[in-house]
Amino acid sequence: MEIKKGIAVSPGISIAKSLVIDAEDYRIPRRSIQPSQRMTESQRIRNAFAGAIDELTKLEATQDQTEGGKIKDIFAVHLRFLRDRSLKKKMTDLVHSQLVTAEYAVSATMREIASHFTKVKDAYISERAADIYDIERRLLKQLLGKKREDVEHLTEKTVVVARELSPTQTAGFNREFVKGLATDAGGRTSHTAIVARSLGIPAVVALEDLTETIRAGDTVIIDGNRGIVIVNPDEQTISQYQKYSREFLELEYKLDAIREKPAITRDGTKITLLGNIEFPDEAELVLQKGGEGIGLYRTEFLYLNRETDPTEQDHYEAYAETVSVFHDRPVIIRTVDLGADKYTQSKRFAPEPNPFLGLRSIRFCLQNLVMFKTQLHAILRASVLGQVKIMFPLITNLQEMMQAKFILRDVMEDLDEESIPYNRDIEIGIMIETPSAALTAFTLARDIDFFSLGTNDLVQYTLAVDRGNEQVSTLYSAADPAVLRLIRTVIQDAYKAQIDISICGEMASEPEYIMLLLGLGVKTISITPPMIPEIKQIIRSVTIEDCNNVARKILTMNSERQISGYLRNAARKILPEAF
Ligand code: PEP
Ligand code: MG
Repeated sequence: MEIKKGIAVSPGISIAKSLVIDAEDYRIPRRSIQPSQRMTESQRIRNAFAGAIDELTKLEATQDQTEGGKIKDIFAVHLRFLRDRSLKKKMTDLVHSQLVTAEYAVSATMREIASHFTKVKDAYISERAADIYDIERRLLKQLLGKKREDVEHLTEKTVVVARELSPTQTAGFNREFVKGLATDAGGRTSHTAIVARSLGIPAVVALEDLTETIRAGDTVIIDGNRGIVIVNPDEQTISQYQKYSREFLELEYKLDAIREKPAITRDGTKITLLGNIEFPDEAELVLQKGGEGIGLYRTEFLYLNRETDPTEQDHYEAYAETVSVFHDRPVIIRTVDLGADKYTQSKRFAPEPNPFLGLRSIRFCLQNLVMFKTQLHAILRASVLGQVKIMFPLITNLQEMMQAKFILRDVMEDLDEESIPYNRDIEIGIMIETPSAALTAFTLARDIDFFSLGTNDLVQYTLAVDRGNEQVSTLYSAADPAVLRLIRTVIQDAYKAQIDISICGEMASEPEYIMLLLGLGVKTISITPPMIPEIKQIIRSVTIEDCNNVARKILTMNSERQISGYLRNAARKILPEAF
């Protein structure tokens, strides 16, 4: 039995067999062969093609047309590629002319083809590079004698273990069978962690070398509450965890009972509790958990998990579905926040040196106006269906905000010309998630309807700590005095300008921060849906006066350790079961 400690990012307990996913990024060195080995290497290439075709044909047959229509189409494209004789010939020619191994010939040929695709400006064509890399990996696995670990066709409960998972991979997991996640890399607010939380899959990240110590098929306990992973637990540990899991579920059940009750403090202050979602079908979960609307819809997930960009109609349908759950309640649609750790297929293979400081989020939209306007058009169309609001992410200065608003007005004019109805008075907000926006909040507030504090990024940019890097995760904390001072400034400036202020960063999903946030003046909180009952319970157990005292006390403290210790103790007194 081996016990590993990481960071708990998604609550719950799961006990299941592991599936270890490879990094899947092969680097094939150029190795020479003797002239006498040419025939053997060429035959290995032919065998790899035959094996890959066989594997894909079997996979294709298991997809039923209704559910997996799109996947079936992708398989068909891959099969056509693999059956193309000229491709195989190109590789065997390389073996003969350059005396290289089969692996090198496959990799070099496929990467050359992929590089042609990525250079093409047309998004559809450049996206095909992802297919080429996928075919390359399939062939290399045949050559290297490893079967691809297949997460798509699970038949029993499984815990997925990986060095790193992308938000896209995580979002694509079959929730029926994937019962837990454990990764070597990652941090609490990495998007992979956020997705795991939204899907309700217990997860632990930052386990550093777990993939080196675990084998596929080992039994694993994921303790998503305490950030512990136990590999090959003994009988006694398993039964302790089964008991603990039952108790945890009972607590969840008990908390679900307050679903219908309002989020109101003991001294009568109403707090609006909203949900953060990545997919429209999560809106129902927000409602079920007792949320009163959507405070953050991360629409970039419409671009992930798919081969081609969504159309205007795809956008519209996703928004209409979300709004239909909440009719007259707020639904804040955030415009796409692509870049950093969230890439479309076409961008995946052209990484930037510093993606979190690069062409990300609103910057990406302002440079891709067709895409941006398509989304705004769809949001405006959906605005007549309910109480839709628009929010722009990662604003760093006034000019950027005005530019985004200007483009929105432009799209409104287009809709006027097309005689398409929309809400002319739609509320427009921005996320405050950079120190520059926080420090100029007073100016920004004059031209906008609301702010939402995006503390996941605000912490990262204020403290210069990558939110997804496990090596610096102990430095990443919303309890840092610098972060708290910025938060206080933004809240005060919003009050002065009389605009709404909410918080949608993960900080607000953590029980220990609630009293502080209420004490600083926050009255609207948007969080990951599974945490709504717990946070509501805390709100219902405190008075604003207690919260004000906590905030006053915290603002006199100068160390993160002191602050987090104090907050934890205060929250533990309110809801001991949560700790
Ligand atoms: C944030 O940065 O706090 C936020 C809510 O946005 P995201 O986590 O999607 O970057
Ligand atoms: Mg953010």
